[in-house]
Amino acid sequence: MYKVLFVTSECWPLVKTGGLADVSSSLPLALQAQGLDVVTLLPAYRGVKSGFKKLKKLGSINSDYCAETIELFEGIVEISGQKIWLVDVPSLYSREGGPYLDQTKKEWGDNSHRFALFCRVACEIAMGRAVSSWRPDVVHGNDWQTGLIPALLSLETKPPATLFTIHNIAYQGIYMRYTFDELRLPEAWWHYQALEFYGNFSFLKAAIVFADYITTVSPSYAEEIKHSDKGCGLDGLLNHRAKALSGILNGVDDHCWNPKTDTCIAYPYDAQSLQNKRKNKQRLQRQLGLAPNPSAPLIGIIGRFAYQKGIDLVIEQITRFKDSPCQWAILGSGDLALENDMRYLAEKYAGKVSVTIGYDECLAHQIEAGADLFLMPSRYEPCGLNQMYSLRYGTVPIVTRTGGLIDTVVDLNAQTLAAGTASGFWAQEATADALTQALHRALDAYNNKPLWLKLRRNGMAHDFSWHRSAQAYVQLYKKALAEHVSP
Ligand code: ADP
Repeated sequence: MYKVLFVTSECWPLVKTGGLADVSSSLPLALQAQGLDVVTLLPAYRGVKSGFKKLKKLGSINSDYCAETIELFEGIVEISGQKIWLVDVPSLYSREGGPYLDQTKKEWGDNSHRFALFCRVACEIAMGRAVSSWRPDVVHGNDWQTGLIPALLSLETKPPATLFTIHNIAYQGIYMRYTFDELRLPEAWWHYQALEFYGNFSFLKAAIVFADYITTVSPSYAEEIKHSDKGCGLDGLLNHRAKALSGILNGVDDHCWNPKTDTCIAYPYDAQSLQNKRKNKQRLQRQLGLAPNPSAPLIGIIGRFAYQKGIDLVIEQITRFKDSPCQWAILGSGDLALENDMRYLAEKYAGKVSVTIGYDECLAHQIEAGADLFLMPSRYEPCGLNQMYSLRYGTVPIVTRTGGLIDTVVDLNAQTLAAGTASGFWAQEATADALTQALHRALDAYNNKPLWLKLRRNGMAHDFSWHRSAQAYVQLYKKALAEHVSP
């Protein structure tokens, strides 16, 4: 039975800013179901410790890289049984604000130090120096916050194998030379074949250079990031490491996102009881102050208000479709200008446009259950979860033709219809015109009842279980262990 240390900067339900948190709660459990022994390592941000009924102290570490004693705790997530180890350094992690941003949405000024220390602690555990009774065979890091781990482990004798997953290549943890010095990283790494990155250095690059295997969260995104328009400066290196790079699609957590058992929605349903979905729609319209019109196509949007997600394009569509019967249920937060534009539209088109600024897990479920369509016009999308949740909830997705969106949503055309696979609509590119065209196609289909039912049932029948993804990760762990040669 392999032992895996799964290192992550967020994990649902303890701390979440996006899809990484969902993956970090589902994948370790799915790996566990494959017979692996998995520990998830997370910083003890403010409030995280109180998310557990019981915490066991595992030990403490005194490090040259930290003025405080670092404490390690073990807790079990009550609703899932997931085993979490917490790195507790209150001055670095226990702060009022988010894991990466302060209360004014500004990056914490010492993020490089916070996550470099997190990586160093992960290495102490990986080498069996922190908790002597447990030493992993594989360390699986996620995103730039854990990027230094494969590099630091390369300095050790007989380190575990490493796998690193890129959830979004646009976030790289890039810092200046003086930070490199402050972090006391080896001088030899200030090199274009190591961490140096156009005159700065990059945590993410460290992982791509040093990890045994690199994955990203969909096959299409794995291809896209090898090209200059989506590789964010790392495309050359990724081509160089192409043999080690692959894409494994994320799954959907069936306990959390299942319309039949969802405790956030009033009328549970499945593909055979879609009449209940109509009741959820009615209820959502009432709850959000939308006109109680059962035939109005209700479009859901949930996510970060960021350029990546094409929220500016949504704003344009709301105006373009102002005279159509469409209704909009929007939930999200992020860019302040986009938040303000959205608020303005909600006021201007009251009864037709509902905007909830903030983070609301239950409302996200209610929108997935109550909406007819789900719009996700991302400019790039490593995997994307909401379009998969939509498919699962019989809410037909309209997506841009990019990354994980094309790996999960099958565009409606004569062929896919005949094959019984069509499940949604692609906009050919992330532009307002392409999106308008896709919306028109979707609204036409919405008015064709038998076709609409077929589309929804096709999507609901699709298997997005974590089981398959976990098997693919286990295969890679096996390969990494077989080929892993300590430097
Ligand atoms: P990303 O990780 O790029 O933000 P994903 O689609 O991979 O996007 O995952 C986003 C996750 O965060 C989904 O589970 C989505 O439901 C959730 N989410 C995003 N914004 C909100 C919000 N405002 N309220 C509730 N859930 C949200």
